[in-house]
Formats: sequence, C-alpha cells, structure tokens
Amino acid sequence: MNFTTGVFTFQTTQSQQDLNNPLVHTVKVLYGDHPYLPSVSIYFQGCDAFPKCAGCHNPETWDFDESFQINFDHLLATVVQKIELLLNKYPQVALAFLGGEPLSVRNRRSAYLIAKFVKEKFEDRVLTIVYTWRMPEDLTKIDIPLDYFDEFVMGRYIKELHQNGFPASSNQIYFSRRVNSNVRYSRNSKLHELFR
Ligand code: SF4
Repeated sequence: MNFTTGVFTFQTTQSQQDLNNPLVHTVKVLYGDHPYLPSVSIYFQGCDAFPKCAGCHNPETWDFDESFQINFDHLLATVVQKIELLLNKYPQVALAFLGGEPLSVRNRRSAYLIAKFVKEKFEDRVLTIVYTWRMPEDLTKIDIPLDYFDEFVMGRYIKELHQNGFPASSNQIYFSRRVNSNVRYSRNSKLHELFR
C-alpha cells in the first residue's frame, strides 16, 4: 500500500486492521504538554523523522514496534475517562498528541479520529494540541483532515536552539487557531487558509 504526504511517499504492507489500532507508548495526565492547561497526553510510538533530532527527549518512542499496538476503542475509552476526571477539577483541559510522531502514516488516522470524537463530545472544554516535526507546507498536503486539532507545535527539536520555555526549541512554530486571532476560527477552515 502506498501513502503520499507532502514530499514523502511511504510504503506499508500493514493491514487496514493494524492501521485502525495505533501504536501508543503511554497515556499520561500531566502539566507541561500545553502552554497553560493540564492535559491528557497520548505519546504515540514510532517516529518517521529522518534523521532523528539530536537531543530528542523521547528516543524510546522512535521504533514502530508493533508490540505497542493498542485497541482503538480501548484507547479512546481510556482517553475519554481521563478527560472526564480532569474536567471534574478544571473548567478547561487539553488533549495532547505527541510521540514519537502522532502524524506518522502509522498513527495519524487514529489521532484524527480521537481528536474528532473528543471535540464533538466536549467542544471547547477540551483544546487539542498536536506536536509534529512536520512543517506547515507538509501539513497542507497531509491525507487526513486537521480540522479537529486546535493547536499545533511544528518543526523538529533542535538542541542548539533549546529554550526554557514553550516550545522546547526556538525554531518550532506554535500555532493556535485562537491565539492567532486574525484568523477567524472555523471547523471547516483549511489549514493553508489559516496560515496565510
Ligand atoms: S520528531 Fe520528535 S520524537 Fe522524532 S526524533 Fe524529533 S523530537 Fe524525537
């Protein structure tokens, strides 16, 4: 099976069943994966950046190790349960997609479906944020809708540009459909329209 995204073409021999069930390293509840909200954070397993970023904080998530495959329905139920627990305490929380690379071909469909379900269920009580090494020009050509991601942190981690703030390295682009208030938020907005 061939997948094309941006300038990349991927080949996989995996079944659709495998692609329906993502690779997930861990799901955590913590502060620090969103600029100001507590989050439920899904760390996907597998990173398709090449070469890898020197100084990557999560090298244990690099391999597309199928032993990390998790049933999608179980993952979604776990995420929703953790969000509901957080929402008992906070008026607004985040759902963070990290890794690894949440937008790798292996995991992107699951990331999209989780974001869609959560936004439709909780609306803006939950802000979704995705961390990706991909840049805007890659995302405009990606083969999943990005409509249900509210915020993006784009670009590789570069150790020499590390900063003690957010994002982790100064080259990375943080984009929020809300913070960039010159952009009128619309669920149907195309990403390339948002970045103009
Ligand atoms: S893209 Fe992310 S997970 Fe992959 S090497 Fe870079 S920092 Fe690490």
